[in-house]
Amino acid sequence: MNNPFFSIDERIETLVTEAEARCAGIFRRIDETADYNAQKVLSAFIRHRVSEPMFAGTTGYGYGDIGRETLDAVLADIFGCEDALIRHNFVSGTHAITTALFGVLRPGDCIVSLTGRPYDTLEEVVGLRGEGHGSLTEFGIQYKQLELAPDGHIQFEAIPAAVQGAKVAYIQRSRGYTLRPSVTIEEIRRVCQLVKSVDENIIVMVDNCYGEFVEMQEPTQAGADLIIGSLIKNPGGGIARTGGYIAGRAGLVELCAHRLTAPGVGKEVGCTLGESRNMFIGLFLAPTVVAAAVKTAVLTSAVFQGLGYPVTPRYDEYRTDIIQAITLGDEPSLVAFCQGVQKGAPVDAYVVPEPWDMPGYESKVIMAAGAFTMGASIELSADAPIREPFAAWMQGALTYPSGKVGLKLALQSMLEQGALEL
Ligand SMILES: *Cc1c(COP(=O)(O)O)cnc(C)c1O
Repeated sequence: MNNPFFSIDERIETLVTEAEARCAGIFRRIDETADYNAQKVLSAFIRHRVSEPMFAGTTGYGYGDIGRETLDAVLADIFGCEDALIRHNFVSGTHAITTALFGVLRPGDCIVSLTGRPYDTLEEVVGLRGEGHGSLTEFGIQYKQLELAPDGHIQFEAIPAAVQGAKVAYIQRSRGYTLRPSVTIEEIRRVCQLVKSVDENIIVMVDNCYGEFVEMQEPTQAGADLIIGSLIKNPGGGIARTGGYIAGRAGLVELCAHRLTAPGVGKEVGCTLGESRNMFIGLFLAPTVVAAAVKTAVLTSAVFQGLGYPVTPRYDEYRTDIIQAITLGDEPSLVAFCQGVQKGAPVDAYVVPEPWDMPGYESKVIMAAGAFTMGASIELSADAPIREPFAAWMQGALTYPSGKVGLKLALQSMLEQGALEL
């Protein structure tokens, strides 16, 4: 049967259908996780008596905003921790992580990253790059990092020595835009045990971006003291229009609140302008939206693995984030792939992305992003720096059917541009 809506080569249709059949068992496990997490979220909404008046929102100081207070409590409940700060005021994930770092650390303190170099945007926050913007280093906070092992895993045996004297031990759960494996909840549990065996006062902080709801537990349920994420990724469910969260031990969340607003002001102020409703709906939908994104990633991995391309993770590997990397091997393939993904977007599908010199990046980058929310990577998107090993990072999809179309159009675009042989 020809596809009545999109021009896709029959061989691509067959390839994707066959890959989908191979993924059946994995999709069942993804559905089980979504089932569990959706119940976890729903029961928290019910326990905290979420109700219509919470959606109205406040203005000005926002004193006594019951939507804001309930949303904090609901998120803490879902993540199995004492308190949370979920706010549209966080301009990005980097802002939320920065708030947590400056909230908890004081001059003279030391932070140790246990997952090597942090995510690109955090390099300037820490002080590895740039000057004069008020990095941790400029405030007299020492930064150290434990490199990852050659296979990309955490060097567990080196943790006790590495965290000696540290105030914060930092973990980045997701691979981000590298080819290393992501850090699973079980691995985070092991890290927490090792860190706490040295000194139980060391704060384990986890950059949880891209990880929420991919597994049945979150890092806070594995011993982490503080986790941070972005609402234009997993926990916003594609509905939250902006924002981020910090969750964990009450005393630490409190410190972060005083940093987000002002010392002494903390959590009690901050109007919601009607954004709470979007955040409630997004959080409610997040487990199934994340499942759609993970299925899209698994299917993409299965198809490209079947075609002989290096993929990470492999389609049948255990996952803890929504990111899929595909090493396509050359620039024309990257360009064709990203242009195809763009063609399947619900927004801006007619736009043809090209490689460009993005500020702050050393090589040119091509990006496919046709999203309802600017920069939202829980929506289907792909990024590829034009450099060795010519890999594309793909993530998101609000629905599995639309994610699958994006994949097929990426393959079609590669076929039409002579970057794929079938
Ligand atoms: C997205 C992300 C961040 C924060 O990035 P923003 O673009 O500022 O939201 C931090 N760490 C990781 C691993 C991420 O994926």
